[in-house]
Amino acid sequence: MIYDVIIIGSGPAGLTAAIYTTRANLKTLLIAGGKWGGQLMLTTTVDNYPGFPEGIQGPDLMMAMRKQAERFGTEFVDEDFEEGDFGKEPFKIKAGEKTFEGKSVIIATGADTKWLDVPGEKEKIGKGVSSCAPCDAFFFKNKKTIVVGGGDSAMEEAIVLANFADSVTVVHRREELRASAIMQKIAMESPKIKFLFNTEVTKILGDEKVTGIELKHNKTGEVSKMDLDGVFVAIGHTPNTGRFRGIELDEKGYIKVHDHTRTNIDGVFVAGDVHDSHYRQAVTAAGFGCMAALESETWLRKTTD
Ligand code: NAP
Repeated sequence: MIYDVIIIGSGPAGLTAAIYTTRANLKTLLIAGGKWGGQLMLTTTVDNYPGFPEGIQGPDLMMAMRKQAERFGTEFVDEDFEEGDFGKEPFKIKAGEKTFEGKSVIIATGADTKWLDVPGEKEKIGKGVSSCAPCDAFFFKNKKTIVVGGGDSAMEEAIVLANFADSVTVVHRREELRASAIMQKIAMESPKIKFLFNTEVTKILGDEKVTGIELKHNKTGEVSKMDLDGVFVAIGHTPNTGRFRGIELDEKGYIKVHDHTRTNIDGVFVAGDVHDSHYRQAVTAAGFGCMAALESETWLRKTTD
């Protein structure tokens, strides 16, 4: 069996693409991965996805999208994508032990947040540890927070957080920020934002939720503790592109977009955080998924006429 479309990835981009391709009557297979659902499966309340006035839990939102895609006939493979042969059509996509064939492919494998990998971090994601101020800042009204990182993302997180939190301390491992001058200026002019340089977070403290951190000054070696409620990690993302041989990447390792959602290979489209290092929102990923689906439909119509 040759599918019209094989979608790789089951976050908002992949699932939205599947809703559109199946409603367009295209035979669609979605490689969802062993842990399906993407980054929203790691969050708690999502308050900025339109249509949910009271907010919705991240995993509930993903389950609703999955059910919607299933309702129109998307077939799911809950195995990890292994490799793709994009040399000639039909494209061959291996997931788990099986290889599937598709006339077109939509890559929507997302990007993973880089975490600090320090004790106490992983188990408190969603309980005081976050990587998305636009999603979670609201929950830190009048609280004490830090942002880890020195790039534009860290500045942006700090600026957003400062609208809610009582205090925001940017903790950066070097003496100089990497962020653009304009972002540095805005952050530094905020009375709520302070900076700690040459400092690393070595431990996140608390049982049920974050209550503090342990810090190390990397010039003096001095170890200290800080009581606080929130740790925002903004040290970059890693796009999930490692297994795509033949697909052109940009200088940052994200999939290079040639025109709207087209990649360098005809019939292979891309959607979501795997190509978009800028917006990285569920709603923008879903929008890109819709665009990729519409473009694959047009492409299939042209090539099979
Ligand atoms: P980034 O520019 O790579 O910065 C990552 C920061 O995290 C750096 O300061 C780095 O320190 C620090 N870091 C990395 N690993 C660390 C670790 N293990 N422990 C502690 N600190 C660590 O990433 P980004 O800020 O996410 O930005 C990515 C891209 O998106 C950039 O091109 C950026 O300009 C763009 N962006 C733009 C905007 C905007 O214009 N509004 C907003 C967000 C992002 P070092 O400096 O020591 O390497």
